[in-house]
Amino acid sequence: MKKTSLQAPAFALVNGELVPWEDARLHVSCEAVNRGLSVFEGIKGYWHLDGSFGILALPQHYYRLCQSARLLHIPFPWTLEEFESCVVTLTKSLLTPENDLWIRATLFVVEGHWGENTRADLIMTAYQSGKQLQSSIKLGISAWQRSSDNALSYRIKSAANYQVARLARIEGRARQCEEMILLNQWGRVAEATGAAVLIVRNGALLTPSSAEGALESITIDIIEVVANSLGVKFVRRPVDRTELLVADELCICGTLAELIPVEKVDEYMFDSNRPVLETLRDKFNDIVRGVCEDDGVHITKLAF
Ligand code: PMP
Repeated sequence: MKKTSLQAPAFALVNGELVPWEDARLHVSCEAVNRGLSVFEGIKGYWHLDGSFGILALPQHYYRLCQSARLLHIPFPWTLEEFESCVVTLTKSLLTPENDLWIRATLFVVEGHWGENTRADLIMTAYQSGKQLQSSIKLGISAWQRSSDNALSYRIKSAANYQVARLARIEGRARQCEEMILLNQWGRVAEATGAAVLIVRNGALLTPSSAEGALESITIDIIEVVANSLGVKFVRRPVDRTELLVADELCICGTLAELIPVEKVDEYMFDSNRPVLETLRDKFNDIVRGVCEDDGVHITKLAF
């Protein structure tokens, strides 16, 4: 299957209207193009065993988009109900039985100048996503640094925030690493370029708190709920670089990544036996696929 960014689905949704893929365009003069001014969410939907389709954590994605828009002074007048209805419309128009769906909801700034009279289009695109679990990867620690809260806050899920991530990915390819870790300005672990970092030490799950330079991850919040239900200790705190290297188990996690085990960080190999992460991953998959329910995890169900 093609990577999401290389797929060309039949439709996009522009301000609530389905339009042919080729017609979802931006003008060269707009701030979205000239200043990279856009904020977005990646949202995942899964087929359930009973034949329904479940969209994971939709309100949480809406509220994080509101937060990103607020921090960049982008007006976002859409209500949660309107936002949900857009996601459902696009999902129903592009869903196939073979694949799950990854939906990208973006606010592109199309009018305004230096923060005056700003207006954004809400554009949604959706891409096919395979149902199989992703295999383990090699990680590198990047020489590039996660931007700080006072520079371009990691709390804002904006296109511009992925410039450093892109450089780290290019660096990673040259080192045969599929993903890269960005350290923060204090030299501690922030996150991966497109996912959060989760480690196991002495039976407990650890992840860097957001103030360490991590996007406020919705998947991490879900994992906390799952860990609590499994009785596994879950801690958010600063994580040193060397703690990553001596971890018992390690994975990256996010909406698209789900939980991807890590087999190597730079030249440090990890045990392929991952009892804590395997249990966590199995439970996570059961919840997102509707095999079992957890009151702490929000799923919007679509029946067909
Ligand atoms: N950090 C970055 C930089 C990301 O791009 C993502 C993916 N959205 C994450 C963390 C994980 O966030 P979430 O679990 O909300 O997808």
